[in-house]
Amino acid sequence: MYEQFVELVRDTYQTNDIVPLHEPRFTGNEKHFLNDAIDSTFVSSIGAYVDRFEQEVAETVNSKFAVSTVNGTAALHTALILSGTGPGDQVLTQSLSFVATCNAISYCQATPIFLDIDRQTLGLSASALQTWLLDNADLEGGRCINRNTGKAISACVPMHTFGNMVEADRIKSLCEQYRIPLLEDAAEALGSQLRDTGSKEFAGTIGDIGVFSFNGNKIITTGGGGMVTTNDPQLAARAKHLTTTAKAPHRWEFSHDELGYNYRMPNLNAALGCAQLQQLNAYLESKRRLHQMYAEALPQMQLQLFPEPQHCHSNCWLNAIVCEHREQRDQFLEITNDQKVLTRPVWQPLHTLPMYAGLEHGELSNTQWFADRLVNIPSSVPPQTSAAG
Ligand SMILES: *Cc1c(COP(=O)(O)O)cnc(C)c1O
Repeated sequence: MYEQFVELVRDTYQTNDIVPLHEPRFTGNEKHFLNDAIDSTFVSSIGAYVDRFEQEVAETVNSKFAVSTVNGTAALHTALILSGTGPGDQVLTQSLSFVATCNAISYCQATPIFLDIDRQTLGLSASALQTWLLDNADLEGGRCINRNTGKAISACVPMHTFGNMVEADRIKSLCEQYRIPLLEDAAEALGSQLRDTGSKEFAGTIGDIGVFSFNGNKIITTGGGGMVTTNDPQLAARAKHLTTTAKAPHRWEFSHDELGYNYRMPNLNAALGCAQLQQLNAYLESKRRLHQMYAEALPQMQLQLFPEPQHCHSNCWLNAIVCEHREQRDQFLEITNDQKVLTRPVWQPLHTLPMYAGLEHGELSNTQWFADRLVNIPSSVPPQTSAAG
C-alpha cells in the first residue's frame, strides 16, 4: 500500500535514500556572500548584509519597513510587544499552529484564546472570530474588552498555515471594527499573495504587523532568522530598538532606555538570506509545479491533496494530504516513514498541550477534525529546479 506514492516521491526527488519533508537548497550565491561577510570581519550583529536583507525582504513583500531578528519566535515576541500586549492581556489566535505562536504570547505574560480554523484555509476562521467577538467582546474606551474576564484583547494573531492565506479581508475588517491590532504569523508564507484584491497584497502586510521565519525548513532560510514587517515608521523604529537591547544611540555610551532584547540577526545569517532571496521566485514557481503534480497524481492513488484556497496565490511551502480518518493517517505515516519518505502529522492542537490546557477557547471542531487527518508530504524544491535556478 502507498507504494505508488513512495515511488512518485522518489522519482520527483531522484533518490533512493531518505527524502526529507523539507530541505534547503544552496545553489546560488550563498558561499560567495558568506565568504564576503567573513572577509569583511562583520560576522555578528551589525553589517551590510543585515541592512540589505531587511531592505530586500521589505521590497519582496511590498512592506515599507522590515526589521530582522534572530528567529521567527523572537519576531513574534517583538511584534506582540509592539501591539501593546502585556501582562494580563488576552490574544485571539488559532489552536492549530506551531507552538511558537502561542509561546510568544506567553512570553508577554498574556494568555491565548484559541479559536477554530477555516476548512478552506486551515488558518484562523473569520466566522469563528466573528462569533467569538459577538458573544464575548465589548468596546470600552476604544479598546476591546473580554466581557467574561474584563481583560483587554490586545491582539489577534492569525497564522497562514503552510503558506495558505487566511480570509484576510474579513479578519481585517473585524479587527478594525473591534480595534484589535492585527498581527500576522506569516512565518510559513513568504511570497503568498491575495488574488482578489487589486493590490495583490502579500502575507505579512495585511495587518498592522507581520512576522516571518527563515528557519532551515522554511521556503528560504538564513540558518535561523526572522523578520518583523510593518508600514508604520514608529512601529518599525521601536522594533529595531527593542531587538537591539534598547540602546540609546551614542558613539560610546552604553545607555539603555527600556527593557530590550538581543534579538539581532547576525550578518552571517543575513548574507545567507540575501543569496536565498535571489532564488525565491524560482522556488515559488518550482513549488507551484510540485503542488500541481501532486494534485494530478494523488487522486489516482486514493489520496486527497489539501487544495490551494481560491482567494490566494499560495507559496505552496508545504503540501498536505487529508486522510479519511486517524487510523488511515497513522498507517500512512508508518508505511511512508518505514520507506524513508519522511511524512509528518500536523501539530497537536495547542489547547491540548499541557501548558495551554484549560484556557479559554471557542468551538474547535475543524481544528480537531484536521488534527486527526492532515499529513505533510515531502515538499522541498525538487532537484532539477535547483540546478537550473
Ligand atoms: C517556523 C514558525 C515560527 C517561527 O519559528 P522559528 O523557528 O523561531 O524561526 C512561528 N510560527 C510558525 C507557524 C512557524 O511555522
